[in-house]
Amino acid sequence: MFLSELSRRDWFKALGVGMSVAAFGAVSNARADFVHKEDKTTGVLLDGSQARPCTLQNDGTVVRPAMNPPVISETDVLVVGGGPAGCCAAIAAARMGVKTTLVERYGHFGGLATGGLVVHILGHWIKENDQKIQATQGIGEEMMKRLEGLPNGIVKREFGKNPTLDAEVYKYLLVEMITEANIEVFLHSWASDAIIDDENNPETNRPVVRGAIIQTKLGPQAILAKQVVDTTGDGDVFVPAGVAHTQRMYDIGLPYRIGNLDRATPPEGSKRPRYLGDLTPIPGVNWVNMAGPSLDGVDVRILSKLELQHRKQIWKQVQEVRNSPGYENVYLMETAPQIGVRITRVIEGEATLTLQDARDGRKYDDCVGIGGAWHGDHIGWHIPYRCLLSKNVENILTAGRSLSAEPLMSDLVRVIPNCWVSGHAAGVAAAVAVKTETSAHNVPIHDVQKELRAQNAYLG
Ligand SMILES: Cc1cc2nc3c(=O)[nH]c(=O)nc-3n(C[C@H](O)[C@H](O)[C@H](O)COP(=O)(O)OP(=O)(O)OC[C@H]3O[C@@H](n4cnc5c(N)ncnc54)[C@H](O)[C@@H]3O)c2cc1C
Repeated sequence: MFLSELSRRDWFKALGVGMSVAAFGAVSNARADFVHKEDKTTGVLLDGSQARPCTLQNDGTVVRPAMNPPVISETDVLVVGGGPAGCCAAIAAARMGVKTTLVERYGHFGGLATGGLVVHILGHWIKENDQKIQATQGIGEEMMKRLEGLPNGIVKREFGKNPTLDAEVYKYLLVEMITEANIEVFLHSWASDAIIDDENNPETNRPVVRGAIIQTKLGPQAILAKQVVDTTGDGDVFVPAGVAHTQRMYDIGLPYRIGNLDRATPPEGSKRPRYLGDLTPIPGVNWVNMAGPSLDGVDVRILSKLELQHRKQIWKQVQEVRNSPGYENVYLMETAPQIGVRITRVIEGEATLTLQDARDGRKYDDCVGIGGAWHGDHIGWHIPYRCLLSKNVENILTAGRSLSAEPLMSDLVRVIPNCWVSGHAAGVAAAVAVKTETSAHNVPIHDVQKELRAQNAYLG
């Protein structure tokens, strides 16, 4: 209730104290500072007549009424999911001059690399002709270079090493890069459905994706697009679009950060406590990675259970560190706001990456990037464009952890630099498809490769 609507006596009552006039004056002034002057309304009277709730039927089923979501944007390339793969895809497409829209369910970009506190950049070194080289170039490398130029952005950026970035600095950098590229952004928007053309492609008889539905505080809204890139990591658009896929499960964890390590004074010769983690760009702060049970990462009951379980475990782990001599001042600084789901849905692509092909160094004509493994002591593996393409639905690409790969290979595909590489490729391919007015399946691959090279990607 507003102060002006209250009598003085009511106001005292509301505060629960007998107050002097002087004190009231002070409260009144504080209110003037606190309440914004233009308390605007939308002018819409919500009388409930437009509400369309689900209904509970006699047989216990819940029925959702049909509705026509308003179209809030029409775009060329729609990228859904602003993690490492999605940000690279959106930046790459936008830099080619096509209208690009990026949808993200949270209020920041970076996916697991920021909200999941997965800050250790693995797998971008490979061996070529017995020389160690960095396979991740293009937008991923540009990001690392720019992080170097920001205070506390990245550490261990040394030849042959795996650096660690800072999640907050990376969030900031992504805002910079995404706004520089003039990308249309929808944050706080949870994609929940695909929009399919009401007619299949007459030549291939395959369904054609035309956009996505996002859930917002204003209800569902539609975004129409010429090409869609699903980088949600969980296939939240390609699954409702009917894309053939498999479901995987692997080690759901919850990384966290601990502070005050620079004030630790362990006695000489004492054993290093468990759960100390690894250094980050912030002095005295370590990040601690976590494994966990391999369960279904899209089942909300499981995710809820794991959040509770992991948070208890983290607390115990930190207490164990604090109980070690010299580490009494270490504290739990932050747990990842986003649970660490390593893998869920993976498309069945036009091609599938296999570990054997990677080991054999198999080359593909439609190579759109080179991936590396964790420790960089092996040859790089080619990423064929067809791994980003669904084999049964058109005009939808994927990249990052959900591209087509057999299970052992997914473990390599999903590390951050490899997601940068495949995201970069998906963005360029989607933009080439728009520019050449063709489907993602028919995109002229040489144009894609030429543009990727022009954007400093490494294709071997
Ligand atoms: C615990 C853990 C430890 C790991 N350790 C390492 C490591 O040390 N080094 C390494 O390189 N990699 C590591 N990885 C792997 C790496 O972090 C991920 O595989 C990588 O971040 C995947 O990138 P992505 O862009 O494909 O997906 P994500 O990072 O998952 O990004 C997906 C984005 O889409 C958004 N999104 C999801 N659903 C929707 C929706 N419906 N609507 C709108 N937006 C949506 C998400 O919010 C997110 O921003 C680890 C992963 C985990 C979970």
